[in-house]
Amino acid sequence: MMSEKILEVKHLGKAFGSNQVLRDIDFSVSAGDVTCIIGPSGSGKSTLLRCLNMLETPSGGEINYHGTDITSKNVNVPEYRSKVGMVFQNFNLFNNMTALKNCTVGQEKVLKKSKEEAEKKALYYLEKVGMAPYINAKPKQLSGGQKQRVAIARALAMEPEILLFDEPTSALDPQMVGEVLEVMRDLAHEGLTMIIVTHEMAFARDVSKRVIFMANGIIVEDRPPKELFETPKDPLTKEFLSRFR
Ligand code: ADP
Ligand code: MG
Repeated sequence: MMSEKILEVKHLGKAFGSNQVLRDIDFSVSAGDVTCIIGPSGSGKSTLLRCLNMLETPSGGEINYHGTDITSKNVNVPEYRSKVGMVFQNFNLFNNMTALKNCTVGQEKVLKKSKEEAEKKALYYLEKVGMAPYINAKPKQLSGGQKQRVAIARALAMEPEILLFDEPTSALDPQMVGEVLEVMRDLAHEGLTMIIVTHEMAFARDVSKRVIFMANGIIVEDRPPKELFETPKDPLTKEFLSRFR
């Protein structure tokens, strides 16, 4: 049986002025899929995720969410983002709010939850990422790894259908990368649908159902991790992967 496609991207393109950053991007994501996106800096990975999260407007093509093209309809953007959440490289926490408040504000504003309900959910997810002892801490009192775990809890507290991660460990000191990857690994095993832009090749290989290699704004290869890492087909993929050996 085919599982239902949550997102289906067709011929997606994005230009900034004369700079064509994404061309003819085609892929789809079904429930429970973990998709990693790898590729050199400047290849368009962040722009792709930002289009999927409606932080950028595509120049062409379609992004179908349960069959509705979000680029052509009057979608409620905050509501859509509660379903297709995003975790950023630089955390993007609200610096004037505690860890707890960071995890309740979206639930109250967008999902119209009561403070009590929102706090209950926030505490559940902060506990899940190992941040229960820090609920009253402000971001400046936290390490990078702790901030990113709060950002993940904040995204989870919206109970999204898909979570997008844009290089979630790239801004972290090396000793903090593991704690964040461990949280993400747990989420993958629990069946959360995720699209993850990462340079952590071992992680991508372990957790993903498939790996997309992007270069120069196109998808060069989209294959199961074992195949892509062991028998890359394209010279660009081979060259890129050789940097990690
Ligand atoms: P990656 O995440 O793979 O490193 P990006 O998606 O960040 O790549 O960038 C791809 C290209 O798009 C780069 O050439 C970058 O300069 C350009 N770009 C990204 N965002 C903008 C923007 N807001 N305005 C103009 N150009 C942009
Ligand atoms: Mg990027």
